Amino acid sequence: ERAREILERAEERGDNRLGVEAMGLLDAYGIPTPEGTVAADPEEAVAAAQDIEDEVVMKIVSPDILHKSDIGGVKVGVPPEDVYDAFEDLVTRARNYQPDADILGVQVQEMVDLDAGTETIIGMNRDPQFGPLLLFGLGGIFVEILEDTETRVAPVSEREATEMVEGIRSAPLLRGARGRDPADREAIVESLQRLSQLVTDFPAILELDVNPLVAGPDGVQAVDVRLTVD
Ligand code: ADP
Ligand code: MG
Repeated sequence: ERAREILERAEERGDNRLGVEAMGLLDAYGIPTPEGTVAADPEEAVAAAQDIEDEVVMKIVSPDILHKSDIGGVKVGVPPEDVYDAFEDLVTRARNYQPDADILGVQVQEMVDLDAGTETIIGMNRDPQFGPLLLFGLGGIFVEILEDTETRVAPVSEREATEMVEGIRSAPLLRGARGRDPADREAIVESLQRLSQLVTDFPAILELDVNPLVAGPDGVQAVDVRLTVD
């Protein structure tokens, strides 16, 4: 099965930290992800952007760079004619940050409408005492400032996942406070359950974060993933 292959390939490379190159794991478990591919050179990036037929997001893909935007490793809204240069610029930035960084390529990803959605985070941390702890909260900067998260031990039932989503203090924001479109909370609940299944099936996953999971009025999109494997 596809999820197992992705983890095995990483193991062969000797990577125990994975990023957006492991997006297929989420896809394999039915967690929606934007269209995207990892391009190995600028030509591949241009071709990938042509398939998307719109402005794209480009991200450096390297097991040595965990927080991509911290080093200028994420470019949002790149028009087709800029894709070639953007590829080279991203690699240069990564090299400047860490000359011997292992660079797998650049991910070319479809744009997600952040204005129409709310950035949330779903994740898992394997606790030595309690086992796999699933986490839900608001994403982006809010998750650190507000410390407004809910955790449950995986596997979670639909009811527990719903409690997580409805249980954060900021839940009114997801229900459509201040004239915002309500977020698709059922889709968040479903994603939490699917993540719960993934980490239950693969005990080798020690830690996993989807940040952000963009919750729109009609469905969710996992835009970024980061995980640590045994
Ligand atoms: P990192 O967390 O490693 O810095 P992300 O992939 O999360 O990298 O990208 C950083 C930010 O860029 C996201 O939090 C989001 O605000 C924005 N972003 C990333 N991918 C997309 C996308 N496909 N569409 C729109 N915005 C995006
Ligand atoms: Mg992120």
